[in-house]
Amino acid sequence: MSKFSSYNFAGQKALIRVDFNVPLDKQTFAITDDTRMKATIPTIKKILKDGGSVILMSHLGRPKEGPEEKYSLKHLVKHLSELLGGITVKFATDCIGADASELAAGLQPGEVLLLENLRFYKQEEKGDEAFAEKLSKLGDVWVNDAFGTAHRAHASTAVIAKFFAPEKRLFGYVMEGEVNAAEQVLHNAQKPFVAIIGGAKVSDKILIIENLLERATDIIIGGGMAYTFFKAQNGQIGKSLCEEDRFETALSLLKKAEAKGVCIHLPSDSVIADNFAADANTSTAPSNNIPDGWMGLDIAENACGQFINVIKQSKTILWNGPMGVFEMEKFQHGTKAIATAVAEATQNGAFSLVGGGDSVAAVNQFGFADKVSYVSTGGGAMLEYFEGKELPGIAAVKG
Ligand code: AMP
Repeated sequence: MSKFSSYNFAGQKALIRVDFNVPLDKQTFAITDDTRMKATIPTIKKILKDGGSVILMSHLGRPKEGPEEKYSLKHLVKHLSELLGGITVKFATDCIGADASELAAGLQPGEVLLLENLRFYKQEEKGDEAFAEKLSKLGDVWVNDAFGTAHRAHASTAVIAKFFAPEKRLFGYVMEGEVNAAEQVLHNAQKPFVAIIGGAKVSDKILIIENLLERATDIIIGGGMAYTFFKAQNGQIGKSLCEEDRFETALSLLKKAEAKGVCIHLPSDSVIADNFAADANTSTAPSNNIPDGWMGLDIAENACGQFINVIKQSKTILWNGPMGVFEMEKFQHGTKAIATAVAEATQNGAFSLVGGGDSVAAVNQFGFADKVSYVSTGGGAMLEYFEGKELPGIAAVKG
């Protein structure tokens, strides 16, 4: 692979796989959140500035059988043009075929072409080689800037790589940023390294915890998943979230951690509620002694103090999953306290990566996104990365 920032795109047609899977208003098709489009603008601008031209390909939504109006990328053309400072964005009504080929062939340096939704063809998700080859013919170089789909071996995200020489495959800035941040944490972490894992279910996070047992100094476990660990050790957890079929997994993770010298921190106390509701009655209790009829919905003061101490001493911080039901005001204190501690540790020199799912929503909601080192945009992709899996979209570029 070549390095994007030092590659000269002059006279080249860059075929970029972007993640323009943005939410659209159901009636007007107006874009309701353009974060993913904005993210990739620097990549496009660099190529245009070099004197190259840009062909953008993406999926949008989950079309079932062929083209559907509500999933057409034509709804993005006007806004994309605005984000690029008013330049005309050409649109191919099909991602392969004569229209796409002719528009791509006629593209001049400084021009941008957007292709219609890749997933109007089943071949995209199937990773069909012939389809990938057709796409590859549109450009001289292939740039993968879609981290959000890097865990999928689709035609445009991975299979297409074989039709470009190694030096003609590149990560764009989005992809480069995500990969660098994840590698810094997983392969280059300064110790102490704390992983903060929260969220609803143990079953969703087992592989991540197992992988982190090989790397982290401390693992903080919060959120609903903590109660399975307490119950597995004969604690009383009332009607808190619990996965009874995961008791053995929880106990075995604790055992493995001990054997490896990794310190697992469970929340000593919880904010408890008599109901899963914003207006529930609340109290606090030790997390392993929650009265019948009550459930733990957030970490409480002692647990916050316990976790903050660990975070403060860490040089590398990985955070995945909220500490409680942060969507409800009564149960967001723990997640906010942890976000504050991560921000402070970052200010004091730690490297912090927030990635995968609801912890990203939480740092955005609480205004901490620019106070941590990196916020990942690739939910599922980042989770698989943390699980230690090789992502096809990354492997394809690296070759
Ligand atoms: P995840 O997608 O696994 O990161 O889980 C995030 C979800 O877990 C959020 O919607 C939280 O509201 C939920 N959650 C966090 N803590 C708890 C808890 N103690 N009980 C129930 N749900 C929780």
